[in-house]
Amino acid sequence: MTRQKTILVTGGAGFLGSFLCESLVADGHSVICLDNFHTGAREKIAHLMDEENFELVWHDVTVPVHADVDEIYNLACPASPVHYQSDPVKTVKTNVMGALNALELARHTQAKVFQASTSEIYGDPAVHPQDETYWGNVNSIGPRSCYDEGKRCAETLFYDYHRQYGLEIRVARIFNTYGPRMNADDGRVVSNFVLQALKNEPVTLYGNGMQTRSFCYVDDLIRGIRALMDHEPGVLHPVNLGNPVEFTMRGLADLVLELTGSRSELVFRPLPQDDPRQRRPDITRATEALGWQPEVPLRRGLEKVIDYFDGVLSRRPARVEVPAALTARPPLAVRRRANGGAAVGPLAL
Ligand code: NAD
Ligand code: UDP
Repeated sequence: MTRQKTILVTGGAGFLGSFLCESLVADGHSVICLDNFHTGAREKIAHLMDEENFELVWHDVTVPVHADVDEIYNLACPASPVHYQSDPVKTVKTNVMGALNALELARHTQAKVFQASTSEIYGDPAVHPQDETYWGNVNSIGPRSCYDEGKRCAETLFYDYHRQYGLEIRVARIFNTYGPRMNADDGRVVSNFVLQALKNEPVTLYGNGMQTRSFCYVDDLIRGIRALMDHEPGVLHPVNLGNPVEFTMRGLADLVLELTGSRSELVFRPLPQDDPRQRRPDITRATEALGWQPEVPLRRGLEKVIDYFDGVLSRRPARVEVPAALTARPPLAVRRRANGGAAVGPLAL
């Protein structure tokens, strides 16, 4: 049986973070979900609030934090270009200071620490598909740079803390991931297309729609993240996590229209600056080291997202599958932890 750990998840009330918290709580770990609700929401983790082993803390990762933890998953950062570009200075701070604070906490507590890095590390890639040895093609002064360079600097910090202080680190480079609980105003392509199609509104293709992405369903991604974190003695190098099946945005739009039976027309809008032309992960390292590969094909994943947003639009409660381990336990009427949240407070150095 696995040892029950105390685990901090920054950005735990976001899209990916909520599924990660859910998975850790279902395994019986004591989870501290830390978030400033910039792009996250209480609704995403509402079903966990009655769990004794789940704690929600409002906190901004740019401010140091102390908690007695065994593991840290650092996910805090808006992932949608629309959101991370709306306050680019804050995005850099969140990435760099957030990583520093996560690493300092790991140094003080001897915790293992995971970084949610990104395929944006590779920029507009000159190598295709992208494997982890590729150093990337990133514009350091463009509108995406706050995110790309922020994430690159965070990787640098992770490896410097490992070399300088011997920290146990894990770094995943996450490729486009989609699923239920994405924000309706997220601006990312899957949520945009599905919502536009469901409302019979024009589906907005940026550029000529021939740029490519590879879409990973959230359940596959969370399984990969956990496999990487739990791997012993660990994979020191960064690991690509994503689905290697590549689609054009035009192909994605056509599939969404087919699955929704929508009457939407396609409209073309200008391609945003520095928008990567192609993206597909080489997942050889993840497959060989972790035995991981995605299982959910895009068609099946999209059906779940369509169902989810259909529920959101008709104001039905969202139909998100909750792990049996969570539903089996009777919910408490009032959620109370013995420590009343006292495990978390300002870092006293
Ligand atoms: P998201 O925007 O849904 O979640 C990010 C969460 O971080 C939100 O809950 C937000 O409120 C929180 N947050 C943002 N700034 C914060 C701050 N300063 N302090 C505390 N909390 C803060 O995005 P997501 O898709 O769930 O992405 C999660 C992580 O995974 C991000 O680090 C992102 O860069 C990375 N990632 C995601 C994808 C993807 O396709 N979803 C791809 C590559 C990398
Ligand atoms: N895109 C699009 N229409 C939209 C939103 C996005 O054609 O309504 C394109 C965008 O230009 C990019 C791709 O879809 O080429 C993926 O965009 P997203 O914002 O989801 O993520 P990115 O991979 O760019 O971070």
